[in-house]
Amino acid sequence: MKTVAFYTLGCKVNQYESEAMEEAFLDRGYRPVGKDEGADVFVINTCTVTHVADAKCRQAIRRAKRKNPHALVAVVGCYVQVAPETVRAIGGVDVLIGTKRRDRIVDAVEEVAATGKKVEDLVDLNQVRTFDELGISTELSTTRAAIKVQEGCEMYCSYCIIPYARGHMASRDQDAILEEVRRLVAKGIKEYVLTGIHVASYGKERTAESPENAERPKDLIDLVEAVAAIPGVERIRLSSIEPRWVTPEKLQRLKACGKFADHFHLSLQSGSDKILEAMNRKYDKALYLEKIEEIRRVFPRAGLTTDVIVGFPGETEEDFQDTLAFVDEVGFSKIHIFPYSKREGTPAALFTDQVPASVKKDRAVRLAEREIALRHAFMDRMEGEEAQVLFEEGEDETMMEGYTGNYLRVRMERKETWVNRLISGRIGKREGDLLHFEPEQ
Ligand code: SF4
Repeated sequence: MKTVAFYTLGCKVNQYESEAMEEAFLDRGYRPVGKDEGADVFVINTCTVTHVADAKCRQAIRRAKRKNPHALVAVVGCYVQVAPETVRAIGGVDVLIGTKRRDRIVDAVEEVAATGKKVEDLVDLNQVRTFDELGISTELSTTRAAIKVQEGCEMYCSYCIIPYARGHMASRDQDAILEEVRRLVAKGIKEYVLTGIHVASYGKERTAESPENAERPKDLIDLVEAVAAIPGVERIRLSSIEPRWVTPEKLQRLKACGKFADHFHLSLQSGSDKILEAMNRKYDKALYLEKIEEIRRVFPRAGLTTDVIVGFPGETEEDFQDTLAFVDEVGFSKIHIFPYSKREGTPAALFTDQVPASVKKDRAVRLAEREIALRHAFMDRMEGEEAQVLFEEGEDETMMEGYTGNYLRVRMERKETWVNRLISGRIGKREGDLLHFEPEQ
């Protein structure tokens, strides 16, 4: 039996696509092995979100070739889509596929094996508006599954390469999503994370008046309600949403579906309106804050997490102080911090007032200090609050951990029968970055 190994870089969507591609190989009789075990076929699913990611992809390709000199090497994904010539120039790559048609990967590999000729399947993203159905029916985790429901982005934030790597918005067929969720419910998975490149755009391209579109969901909230209606689904999360997607009506519908985890990941990127405009983000601080208040009216204990870029071109100390003041004002429960990374091919890469690396580093450190204080303050505010936790398998034989709905990690003494179950109780004291949990007796 031939063996296949995967090396995946990047986001939840890339992880999902690698799992789906691995399943396609399994269905064709391949045996999956670890990336350090030596394999007949080696697949690298690339990322290009920063130049660091690009470098890691090149390293991974060279290493795969060095460690598996006889292996057939397939390189796919975002880096291939935006820089095929660079990947091709590394040498020793047998299959090149971008971010479309990865459902053909096993055919491409077997074509190379049969003919000895390299296969390239690169699509011009401007010509494609369809969603590649690449589903999964098993999941690595026993508790939670990420479900890819949307592809592409047309926001064109000035620092971001993703629209050029992933192309136009495209929403997955609802029936395919629901069918996948039912398959995973049958495998005992309790929690579903709806994810995509710009998941808030789900259904948005279905504007044209047509019989098919008439039936199709036009908004993410319709899909959440459809997934929530499946028996056996116990909790639903959204990977990240765009502030403008939030409305009081949708928040009420999320609450009413009874299975929505009260955690909102709303990318902020900067707390300075001047910088938000230069980033081509589609909101200002006032709108962002308004959405936070709307969320808190319906979900008063919601976990609010975000992403912030520090050191964007033109960001002064005063702008950075605006960001510090704004994250305090919101009171985030967690902040992911990214020093600005110049991406060739994006508008911001041409901006003249680039910020020195030392200043970016200093700002990242200062924001990280603020982040810890805000996260601990949120955790302390939750002490004594009722919560439901989905406990995970985990390695530890004496303790077990899991997430509350509002995305706090808690820990308690291990009880085998409670693993992979939603357990009710109260949040206990904080110990460092972890919270204790007191289950209902
Ligand atoms: S919304 Fe902006 S940052 Fe996010 S993927 Fe689209 S272009 Fe990139």
